Amino acid sequence: MTQLDDVTMPTYKRWPVEFLSGEGVWLRDSSGDRYLDLMAGIAVASVGHCHPKVTAAISYQAASLVHVSNLYLTRPQAELAGRLSNMTGGMKVFFGNSGAEAVECAIKLARRWGDAKRTIVATEKGFHGRTLGALAATGQPDKQAPFEPLPLGFVHVPFDDPGALERALDGTVAAVIIEAIQGEAGVIVPSPGYLKDVRALCDDAGALLIIDEIQTGLARTGRHFAYEHEGARPDILCLGKALAGGLPMGACLARPEVADSFQVGDHGSTFGGGPVPSAAALAVLDVIEEEGLCDRAASGGERLMKGLSAIAPEGSVVRGKGLMIGLELPDGGARAVAGACLERKVLVNDIGDRVIRFVPPLVISDEEIDQGLSVLEEVFDAI
Ligand SMILES: *Cc1c(COP(=O)(O)O)cnc(C)c1O
Repeated sequence: MTQLDDVTMPTYKRWPVEFLSGEGVWLRDSSGDRYLDLMAGIAVASVGHCHPKVTAAISYQAASLVHVSNLYLTRPQAELAGRLSNMTGGMKVFFGNSGAEAVECAIKLARRWGDAKRTIVATEKGFHGRTLGALAATGQPDKQAPFEPLPLGFVHVPFDDPGALERALDGTVAAVIIEAIQGEAGVIVPSPGYLKDVRALCDDAGALLIIDEIQTGLARTGRHFAYEHEGARPDILCLGKALAGGLPMGACLARPEVADSFQVGDHGSTFGGGPVPSAAALAVLDVIEEEGLCDRAASGGERLMKGLSAIAPEGSVVRGKGLMIGLELPDGGARAVAGACLERKVLVNDIGDRVIRFVPPLVISDEEIDQGLSVLEEVFDAI
């Protein structure tokens, strides 16, 4: 049999496991073993794997119509845009196929709106995707350096530092782009009030606020959007990951006055907002409401954070909001922990050498959280 490494580019450090099926928070591999999934892809399968409602929506739509050009209407896209607009106080939507594409759209829209103002201020260690524009916004020099020159006009300031942001907000700034909680940086939760400060500073400077909720959005932190915790509304909002239940979809939303800066032909996507991912996303939004997943994320997150704090090695830091949690180990070894968990059939995600990230399906039960915790306790004891 062909080895995957022989025929795919070496961009991923893969674990040697092949998954065949999933149900809720559980996955099954090619040997028939069951795994507890505390990653949900990476914050993608928020309603669980193969939720019957999402599966039915995909199947029905796939049998009805899979694609027409965005030069025509389809009902699933129109309904989804309406739902997202309702959830965001009347924003207008552009659909792409990934988080990075939502960010690309946000950058282009901000510059279109800003006219002569072109600068985008982003945050150090922030993550916004791997395409060149999104990479220019990403504040991680090690990810950027091999691919320079990147698009110009990006400035980075420390996260959670309103003073530094204020100094960067000169008359050339079109927008500030920021994660509500930095995900890839290791689940960094800013101080209370920070987002509100950022909102006020943008208002004072006449700059737009772009909040990247690709990871934090859609109930993950206990609210539909993490910005709701602080009542700091963005001008532009980026969504992705959980949106279409595992099908590729990203969305860039904006206040109508901003969104209407775009003109016909300014932006586009062949597949964006296609009927099948749109139907899946509508089902995902239904499940979030019907199963009370905002509340579930809040209470499950509290249980998991408490449990982790009780069993983590001394000197560890547990942080997060809802079911987006990072555990920083005092002496590193995150990958060894993830590997030991995998051996015990639990999936967790290591970020860098020090942080274990937990972003499980939001449908996870208390019992399943406790099962995960008991395996982690065993792993911490063994290491
Ligand atoms: C994952 C992620 C992205 C990139 O999304 P892709 O779908 O991988 O392009 C951008 N921003 C944040 C905050 C993310 O977590």
